[in-house]
Amino acid sequence: MNTALVTGANNGIGYEVARQLTGKGFQVFVGARNRDAGQKAVAKIAKEGGKAIFLEIDVADNPSVTVAAREFAKAADHLDVLVNNAGIIVDGDNAILEISDELLRKTLETNTLGALRVARAFVPLLRKSKAPRVINVSSGGGQLTGGADGWSPAYCISKTALNSVTLQLATALPKFAANSVCPSWVRTDMGGQDASRSVEEGADTRYGSLPMRRRRSLENSCAIGKKYPGRE
Ligand code: NDP
Repeated sequence: MNTALVTGANNGIGYEVARQLTGKGFQVFVGARNRDAGQKAVAKIAKEGGKAIFLEIDVADNPSVTVAAREFAKAADHLDVLVNNAGIIVDGDNAILEISDELLRKTLETNTLGALRVARAFVPLLRKSKAPRVINVSSGGGQLTGGADGWSPAYCISKTALNSVTLQLATALPKFAANSVCPSWVRTDMGGQDASRSVEEGADTRYGSLPMRRRRSLENSCAIGKKYPGRE
């Protein structure tokens, strides 16, 4: 059976990706740092007949990620698709010259390093898949051109760096498909209710059916959805 792990899957885009993947026959591990919220998400998916398993994982915490990989291995012998979805946005429209080191560090810890550490921890399980994929949920705000224009600089920097992590992973893991994707501007806690896309559109499960590609260019790295229109 195809397996997928989605981080930050207790709500928002992550939940919807998990839900849609179970609809495509995946056994989905619902990664969440909050046990109650994760278990509620699993119960909701199960009500629709989906096969989901809760996996406690705080991507900003090394020991939590290590334990999660160990727990995963008790329930499944391989991982086909890793969706690094968990993300935070803690800055507003403060100028780059005003954000604190602490805020930037906190954002990078989750959005950039979090995705890398989860990938590292799950590579042994991904290597056991016939078609391993790592999908990093990025943002048009992380594009080097035409993306960031000064809004939420810590967030945008973290997503630019995440795109670089994706390229590095694609190089280090030539048999894997490693991609960054952008869901566009989506109505979630993060995106707010004025966003242009529903969570169903943002979580389009092309995540689960992307053709096997060794690498995509940076220009194509936000291929799902259009560029983040947040502050245009
Ligand atoms: P939400 O804020 O609705 O959900 C974020 C999810 O990430 C929550 O489940 C949250 O868990 C989880 N999370 C945050 N930090 C951690 C952590 N340290 N460990 C584990 N889980 C964590 O955001 P969205 O659903 O909107 O965003 C999902 C992804 O899509 C993010 O990477 C975001 O940057 C990206 N994106 C979103 C856009 C949008 O318009 N919404 C646009 C472009 C990109 P908890 O509930 O415990 O806080």
